Amino acid sequence: MTAKEQIAKNKVISIDYCLKNDAGVELDKSTPKDPLFYLHGVGQLVPGLEKALEGLKTGDKKTVTVSPSEGYGELNPSLKMSIDRSQFPDGDPIEPGMQFVADTDKGPVTFTIEGIEGTKVKVDGNHPLAGVTLHFEIEVRSVRDATKEELTHGHVHGPGGHH
Ligand code: ZN
Repeated sequence: MTAKEQIAKNKVISIDYCLKNDAGVELDKSTPKDPLFYLHGVGQLVPGLEKALEGLKTGDKKTVTVSPSEGYGELNPSLKMSIDRSQFPDGDPIEPGMQFVADTDKGPVTFTIEGIEGTKVKVDGNHPLAGVTLHFEIEVRSVRDATKEELTHGHVHGPGGHH
């Protein structure tokens, strides 16, 4: 038996997780056959969760609470806006739930169309989980070294990753 590897930078990790909000409503969940694979230490997870996983080993379970600032960010009211319909390309359908990327002074932001009122299109550039305190229950399934190729690409290959 070798000592169990600890979660650290440049390890490939798989975890089971369940994500709830403050009200205890389940927002997201992995399934037993499909754990979340990620490369640790390169910002693939929200910062608060990545920090909390550091040093854990296979089989470890943990409950992690992540504030919005360590999660998907605070709600930014200035990213909720009304845009004139004429600003959208002619002929493109505009429907609630559709997303588009627009350049802002803080770089490209993905906006979601929330609704249409007359000639105005209401859009929101906040992440759907912005302003939400995240409650994760996690269990570490596996920890292994990343391959050279994975480190070069910055993502996981093989099961749970890119092929
Ligand atoms: Zn790749």
